Amino acid sequence: MTYIFKTDLDTPNLRGTPIVDSAPSDARVALNNIGGAFAEGETGQFLEIRSPATAELLGYVTMGGAGDVDRAVRTAEAALAPLAQLGTYGRAALCQRVADTVAANADRLARLLALEQGKPYKDALDEVGTVSLGYRNAAEQVKWITTDVIQVADPFKRAFSILQPKGVLAAITPWNFPLGLPAMYYLGPALATGTPVVWVPAPTTSLVAAELMEVLAEADLPKGALNLVMGAGPVVGDAVATHPRVHSIGFTGSSATGRTIASRAPGKHLMFELGGNGPTLVLEDADVDLAAQQAGFGCFANAGQICTATERVLVHKAVHDRFVEGLMKVAAGKKMGDPFDAGTNMGPLNNAATLQKMQEHMADARATGAEVLVGGDAADGMATNLFFEPTVVTGLSAANMLNIEESFGPVAPVLTFDTMDEALSLAASSNYGLSAAVFTSTTRNAWAYAEALRVGIVNINEMSCYWEPCIPAGGAAGSDSGLGRTGGLYTIREMCDLKTITFDVRR
Ligand code: NAD
Repeated sequence: MTYIFKTDLDTPNLRGTPIVDSAPSDARVALNNIGGAFAEGETGQFLEIRSPATAELLGYVTMGGAGDVDRAVRTAEAALAPLAQLGTYGRAALCQRVADTVAANADRLARLLALEQGKPYKDALDEVGTVSLGYRNAAEQVKWITTDVIQVADPFKRAFSILQPKGVLAAITPWNFPLGLPAMYYLGPALATGTPVVWVPAPTTSLVAAELMEVLAEADLPKGALNLVMGAGPVVGDAVATHPRVHSIGFTGSSATGRTIASRAPGKHLMFELGGNGPTLVLEDADVDLAAQQAGFGCFANAGQICTATERVLVHKAVHDRFVEGLMKVAAGKKMGDPFDAGTNMGPLNNAATLQKMQEHMADARATGAEVLVGGDAADGMATNLFFEPTVVTGLSAANMLNIEESFGPVAPVLTFDTMDEALSLAASSNYGLSAAVFTSTTRNAWAYAEALRVGIVNINEMSCYWEPCIPAGGAAGSDSGLGRTGGLYTIREMCDLKTITFDVRR
């Protein structure tokens, strides 16, 4: 096994590979992109990027600083007027052009995505498809949005509202879906609404972000419409979030970082998609085979690194054994390995910090007497130490970290309940409120549970992570899962300010 990914990290959003003062002249080097021009970051340093799946050295990412962010924000601000001049239909056409360009370069993007993120190539190709989908969805939605004419008491006055971009958007994004998520959540809707963006990707998947910028050069976007600045989150992420000329922040990442950004950027508009701990509830009247198959997918897809993953399964005692049997079959069907092997259907964890968290959650489960039916550790005999075995754990209590915290790894923690009150109380034992799934064969139960669960989206007889970019989703108010709604018209409205204009028809 190649232990190149350190777990004793001081900087948890870096992978555990070194930062160096220079990159070899023949290496792939990912550069910032400001106003269409590629340039090195002001620190002069580079993060070494190795594949979490194969350990091969992929290249180096320039580490930017606050000065790079400042230039990017000012360049973005200057793009507001040209973007407005294109009009809604012009920008929608541009979104379609971007989608076509990405589709034409799908293999190139998917290859690097698979290597850098670690996911199987076929999953990477699907993700690249969601980049195009995000832009096309935004192009269609933006054309159909309407605003109101407001009736007023004064017979000589007319009042109506228009939508305008809020200003420069900071898009700070994570490494689990490094292309699809930014495109669907932020970049597509931003272009459609005429919102210029400064994009800060997660450091461990920055090579592929820079590759997307190279591909997008073919789409000939207005100068400054999309700018990329890479570097450590607490440096460039913080600089963009706190920049006085940034008016809106789209952040997807951990709840802890979300809280830091919110406290550092008072008064700015926040679109936050944060962590989740999605429960899947399997009721006594469920189709248990379907539930096991869907929950298994929800637990192990993307090696569990999905905010809406099935983080825990709450199963009625009467169907527990049958359900676990089905789940074990799904776990047994997972094959980890090289992302380009046709048989590989699960990749490694992306970084050492995620591995460390999984190990802590498993140690807590074992210490309290839980039964690890399969998996439970990093796999032996793999190319790197980041492959975590597909894991099924039973005999847990509400107090276990696997129930309360987001694990973000390929684990299926199973807990049992007897009554609806017990099920809902277990579901609410975590402070997250992003997504849930309910398996039942009666509409009465489906409605009762769907309305009672405090989350942003409930999927009935479907895994917790089902979502499409036209569906609004997000965190329940007051939870650790975020602010606002992402998806379709909701994102487009969130990205814009509603401005009211009144007229006096006599003057
Ligand atoms: P993270 O919070 O460590 O990092 C996310 C991004 O924030 C990265 O680009 C990082 O560089 C940047 N960042 C880090 N510190 C910062 C700071 N002080 N100021 C500004 N930016 C900073 O999260 P992660 O580990 O990269 O991603 C995993 C998390 O993301 C999980 O909790 C997951 O649930 C969440 N997530 C949520 C959704 C959703 O839609 N709700 C989707 C995907 C991931």
